[in-house]
Amino acid sequence: MIDVLVAGGGPAGLAAAIHSTLAGLEAVVVEPRTAPVDKACGEGVMPSGVAGLRALGVEAAGRELRGIRYVDGTARAEASFRGPRGLGIRRTELHRALHERALGLGVRIVPGKVGEVRQTAGSVTAAGITARWLIAADGLHSAVRRGLGLERPGAAHRRYGLRRHYRVEPWTDFVEVHWSGHGEAYVTPVADDLVGVAVLSRVRRGYDEHLDAFPDLTARLRGAGATEVRGAGPLLQRARRRVAGRVLLVGDAAGYVDALTGEGIALGLATAEAAVRCLAAGRAPEYERAWARLTRRHRLLTGTLLAASRRPATARLIVPAASRLPPVFTAAVRALQ
Ligand SMILES: Cc1cc2nc3c(=O)[nH]c(=O)nc-3n(C[C@H](O)[C@H](O)[C@H](O)COP(=O)(O)OP(=O)(O)OC[C@H]3O[C@@H](n4cnc5c(N)ncnc54)[C@H](O)[C@@H]3O)c2cc1C
Repeated sequence: MIDVLVAGGGPAGLAAAIHSTLAGLEAVVVEPRTAPVDKACGEGVMPSGVAGLRALGVEAAGRELRGIRYVDGTARAEASFRGPRGLGIRRTELHRALHERALGLGVRIVPGKVGEVRQTAGSVTAAGITARWLIAADGLHSAVRRGLGLERPGAAHRRYGLRRHYRVEPWTDFVEVHWSGHGEAYVTPVADDLVGVAVLSRVRRGYDEHLDAFPDLTARLRGAGATEVRGAGPLLQRARRRVAGRVLLVGDAAGYVDALTGEGIALGLATAEAAVRCLAAGRAPEYERAWARLTRRHRLLTGTLLAASRRPATARLIVPAASRLPPVFTAAVRALQ
């Protein structure tokens, strides 16, 4: 019997496997997709996520991010991170780096999907593998969360995300968030000749139609080669709890608010680390409290911004208010670190 079976080889799952191995536990990852795995994502890693990658011994190539800039027509607000920078990075590069580090440490990554989960007093079995513990890192629509009856109904206000890359030299080292009454566009430089543009909205329509709401941005991107569009959602996913017997939920599988503050990767790494720390200490139930502590500030900040952006009229007040109150905006950006 192995120590830790990990369902899902995204950032949270690979981080869980790497931390397990570093803690002397044998880990196996079950992942249905072949490396390098791509995903709809804004691809901005907050400074705490960069520190999380460093703690895993992961080196990944991308573009340094200095801070966050909000833009709405002529209104602007920007704030730099205090101290270490963030990282704009293609998901394929992030996955490659995590995957190689895991394999280098001897983690076994097997193709497959985790479906039914069976537990006894001392073990858990899924995908034909028996382990002492299962860490579920199978993403936003976690089959493990659903199968264990841990799913809580989502909200009426559903948001979705779409992203595309443009072959153009980045014009900024900030993550630029362009606001409209019906959603936001997130511009992240990810390579010397590539920027990612993710749109988040409640309105379901095509990517180009969303982008039409941001004329300054479309003007910059005109003529640039564009990649295919990838989507994800609904974004809000809630779990009743994060620990169910010998199963611990991490990353998006543990519950997700929204991509508005770009913290999913950093939180995925942090919650994976916390889950393994609790397992290695023989105190699995303590993970629930650790998760709540790690995600509290994010849930509060993202929830507040989401509430303000719900109505077009209040959404249009966000950037002017932020530009009139630089200390408040700076404090909010630094709270994301
Ligand atoms: C539009 C958009 C923009 C975003 N922008 C940002 C951003 O700028 N910065 C940021 O930090 N975060 C951002 N996020 C959030 C971020 O993408 C996620 O929080 C992050 O990918 C979570 O990692 P994870 O490993 O938990 O899940 P995932 O990355 O989704 O990985 C889950 C893995 O599990 C696998 N899997 C699925 N089902 C099963 C199964 N049954 N058995 C086994 N494996 C399974 C999948 O193939 C996948 O590889 C954004 C999200 C969206 C949708």
